[in-house]
Amino acid sequence: MFTLKLEEIPGEGLDLKWTEERASLLAYLENFPQIDFEFETPLFSEAKIWKAGQSILMRGRVETSLRLQCVRCLKPFSYPLSSVFELTLHPLKSESPIEEVELEAEDMEATFFEGGEIHLSEIACEQVFLEIPYKPLCQEECKGLCPVCGKDLNLSSCECVKDELASGFSALKKLKLES
Ligand SMILES: [Zn+2]
Ligand SMILES: [Zn+2]
Repeated sequence: MFTLKLEEIPGEGLDLKWTEERASLLAYLENFPQIDFEFETPLFSEAKIWKAGQSILMRGRVETSLRLQCVRCLKPFSYPLSSVFELTLHPLKSESPIEEVELEAEDMEATFFEGGEIHLSEIACEQVFLEIPYKPLCQEECKGLCPVCGKDLNLSSCECVKDELASGFSALKKLKLES
């Protein structure tokens, strides 16, 4: 994982490009047991980094391809992703409590760094995390699996769909009558 030391940033700022290999990305993801996706390709990042007083400003771009799982048909699919970002990083001093750092509303994107080091690969990964859809779909009109026989309805239809719908409707009707 790529780390930058504060003193490596010159007054005029720094232009950086770096690539995180798939193997190290997958190792990093193991820190997040709740994550259910994979990197399909390396993670390419570029950023301009400046010092602004005690803080660091970053403007950059991440690009990679993920392997996500469709929430409807459960099939894995490729998800190419390219995203620009802007970040302000504030120094986090262990001796001063967080509330001493005034956070303003427009500063929602603020992150912190500790010990004079900026973990560039982790920042890039976080930007990727932010781009993952809450409910990934292999295609907008994915028909999903039949709840009765489990058949992938994108590949073929099945007989039980109608019955399932019909019983769903009658249940709804009953519910309405009772309320
Ligand atoms: Zn699907
Ligand atoms: Zn079915």
